[in-house]
Amino acid sequence: MTIASLHRPLQSLRIGPGISALGERFVERRDPTPLPDPYLVAFNPDVAELLGFEASEANGPEFLRLASGNARFGPVPSYAAVYAGHQFGTYVTQLGDGRALGLGEVLSPNGQRYEWQLKGAGLTAFSRFADGRAVLRSAIREYLGSEALHHLGIPTTRALAVAGSDFPVQREAIETAAVLSRVAPTHIRFGSFEYFHYRRMHAELKLLADYTIANFFPEFANVAETERYARFLREVVERTARLVAQWQAVGFAHGVLNTDNMSILGLTLDYGPYGFIETFDPGFICNHSDDMGRYAFGRQPAIGLWNCRALAHALESLVAEPEREAALAAYEPAFEAAYAAALRAKLGLREEREGDLALIEDVLDVLERGRADYTLFFRALSRLTLAPAAHDDVARLFEHAGAWREWLPAYRARLAAEGSDDSARHAAMLAVNPKFVLRNSLAQAAIAAAQRRDYSEIARLHDILRRPYDEDAGDERYALPAPPGTAPIVVSCSS
Ligand code: AMP
Ligand code: MG
Repeated sequence: MTIASLHRPLQSLRIGPGISALGERFVERRDPTPLPDPYLVAFNPDVAELLGFEASEANGPEFLRLASGNARFGPVPSYAAVYAGHQFGTYVTQLGDGRALGLGEVLSPNGQRYEWQLKGAGLTAFSRFADGRAVLRSAIREYLGSEALHHLGIPTTRALAVAGSDFPVQREAIETAAVLSRVAPTHIRFGSFEYFHYRRMHAELKLLADYTIANFFPEFANVAETERYARFLREVVERTARLVAQWQAVGFAHGVLNTDNMSILGLTLDYGPYGFIETFDPGFICNHSDDMGRYAFGRQPAIGLWNCRALAHALESLVAEPEREAALAAYEPAFEAAYAAALRAKLGLREEREGDLALIEDVLDVLERGRADYTLFFRALSRLTLAPAAHDDVARLFEHAGAWREWLPAYRARLAAEGSDDSARHAAMLAVNPKFVLRNSLAQAAIAAAQRRDYSEIARLHDILRRPYDEDAGDERYALPAPPGTAPIVVSCSS
């Protein structure tokens, strides 16, 4: 099968080369491997609008050809980027887009730039021993996961579409292939910098840093060179700290926080075996292959810093040690401030007061010991009244409500101290404590239906996840954990 180039770009999309402009030491130019007889499994009009084309384009043949690797944009060659990274703490000298291909950078009508990347579009120079494919299950998981986080206000890559095919792919069992279209201003990773550092390709490292700063951190482009890279590093460190704080606040575990999965823009990147916590458990491990619990939920803040340290080390030729250390020192305060702000908002506290951190620690302890569902708890807490009521609707969420009952008076006293008003607080809390998160069981139901060629559940779930704070976005079962006794869903790296 040959790759046809599109003579008429989708609508009036303007396409640039993105990072492939840096040349062959940074990317391999490579056509996608066509997905045979593709069909559209999911399409996200929100992202089409970001890019600047009409949602009705999704019904046309050109869109499907692009989204399934059967076409590329005519004037711009598609490309796979090289990178390296620390995987589970060990440096791997050569990774790269093994199953991802950039179709190009879309220059959107509002002046933003978005790299359109296909995930699962076939072999590249960086595929190592794997097949360059993604399975339907993992494409749907990334599609729903990234949109869920976006609508929770968490920086992330976005998902445009999933194209499916009956083409078989061998994993633990035989599954079918799919291609995910995802977009982000850039998919450059911490590991992109590590690759050039460890090969002592310092000129290329500087080119990559200059490209990244010029295009995505323009506020530093005119800073004197002696300070520019240090400022850039510090900004990435702070963004990473704030990103992880948002994950912790919502109960999201990424699952594979290798440095090659860390976005230089501070976006959530590369959704694999991620999961939302149900009962609060710092030891929650969503990745079945993570035997040591390196990427357990509660370890993410420390791992975020570890990864920033790896990035700082990779920038050794551009940033002197004292400045690297100063940039890294910004991580903890940025994390603590963002996390405290998020938890204060979840608790409905308007003011910052002494003792808040202890109150936050205590509520997490109450949740862990009492085994209440994290999401349901904060949603129910959003309706608590200052005056003790006859029915305690929060207590029924706990397996053991003793600690909750002990904590409650302190919480009510703290609310009273700032003159908290029930109805104002209820409204504020309901706007930050989601009713709907992407529980594994919900994603799994959408995947199971899709494997039977019914894609309606993906669309329904996506629609609910677009409005996570809206009481009426979906019926009650979408707000509930899997019924007790449901077998846990096993997800690992190699999906
Ligand atoms: P991940 O664990 O998904 O972040 O992937 C780690 C590395 O393995 C990246 O360089 C991927 O591009 C590559 N990789 C993962 N799965 C495949 C696959 N099916 N084919 C080729 N490369 C892959
Ligand atoms: Mg990855």
